[in-house]
Amino acid sequence: MKYISLNHNSVPTSFRKAVINGLAPDKGLYFPEKEINLPKHFIESIKDIDDKEICFEVINKYIGDEIPKSKLLNIIEKTVSFKIPLKKIEDSIYSLELFHGPTLAFKDIGAKFMASCLDYFKESYLSKKITVLVATSGDTGGAVAKGFAETKDIDVCILYPKGKISEVQEKQITTNGSYVNAIEVDGDFDLCQSMVKKAFNDEEINRKIALTSANSINVARWLPQMFYFFLALKKIKNKKRNVFSVPSGNFGNICAGILSKSMGLPIDHFIASTNINDTIPRYIKDGIFDPHNTKRTISNAMDVSDPSNFIRIQKIYNNDLQKLRKNISGYSFNDNATKDTIFKLYNSYGYIIDPHSSIGYLGIKEYLKNLQSREVNGIFISTAHAIKFKSIVEKTINTELKYPRSLKKILTKENISTSIDSYSELKEFLLNKPQ
Ligand SMILES: *Cc1c(COP(=O)(O)O)cnc(C)c1O
Repeated sequence: MKYISLNHNSVPTSFRKAVINGLAPDKGLYFPEKEINLPKHFIESIKDIDDKEICFEVINKYIGDEIPKSKLLNIIEKTVSFKIPLKKIEDSIYSLELFHGPTLAFKDIGAKFMASCLDYFKESYLSKKITVLVATSGDTGGAVAKGFAETKDIDVCILYPKGKISEVQEKQITTNGSYVNAIEVDGDFDLCQSMVKKAFNDEEINRKIALTSANSINVARWLPQMFYFFLALKKIKNKKRNVFSVPSGNFGNICAGILSKSMGLPIDHFIASTNINDTIPRYIKDGIFDPHNTKRTISNAMDVSDPSNFIRIQKIYNNDLQKLRKNISGYSFNDNATKDTIFKLYNSYGYIIDPHSSIGYLGIKEYLKNLQSREVNGIFISTAHAIKFKSIVEKTINTELKYPRSLKKILTKENISTSIDSYSELKEFLLNKPQ
């Protein structure tokens, strides 16, 4: 498989190069050159196929012979190493829990897969040591740090917005020891992301350091997110239409779902559920792409107003807004609605949910409201464990949450980070860190 740039000014390149580069030389996002359709008999028989084999079939054609089968199976095994339950919450509504991984959010899957691919490809870097540079709105940071825990000869630098991530998220970023450089930026996520982009374009930095990105724009983070759409539908035993509500920020996760559908997975409709950073719901409604300033919310991993991956979704629909509207609805919800739902789900079912997943639930409810028939499986993605947003969830349900055992170890560790407030400070940091 070759990857084209969505800016259309770079030559198509291999999966390996696309993973290593992150972004194409013309700054465009990489996108698979060819459409892939999975054989009908495969889709129809996924219920009888082993999870690992399903994931292999789904991703294999995007990689081709650049990673041998046994190695790829091994990477998949390390990536999907935790349970992914599909819980029925009420009539027609299911929660796909993607938060049982090492850092308790769905990003663990993409981060681990990408780290393993980079580790496999690392000899391509010749003499330069690789540095993974990534901006996080909250959950990417911890997931990337953990994903690279076993690849110690790769350096990791994580930029996060000061005071805008939760306590657990900050612990997961700042307590990993020397292989992870935590960089606290005085600004919001969009500023972190723009600094990262600038560093990638900086010739002086590129001469000295082999930089690579681990944001959801990297194909090795984006593509494995297809796994759980397949694994979810493997668990559904009826023949009703399937609708997914995906809590969305940078739109990587939902874009992986949409790609899964384009391969033949029977998904009828997607709901892009956002907080008040609602660029895409407004775009779907009015046809005008008009990002406002990013606003702070309690679902901070979705405080994104110019989602990078949306261009890939437009590509899948050939930039045809009508087609996009047929397949995707967009709804946005404010913090009060988010909290009301956290409270309601706890009160009605004893189900404890985090603010992002709460928006996913609200999205599926809104969609079902406009529907005559209840003949659908409404699946919302639960993207993070409630403990990652402990204080807000506790206040909302008026109950104390217990820490999972896996977290207890890092809670007592000291946060270690470097504070910056300008691009020049980031540059200085990168050029002067030990190589
Ligand atoms: C990253 C994240 C999202 C948003 O996912 P995108 O792929 O960026 O749209 C939603 N919820 C949580 C908990 C996240 O960490």
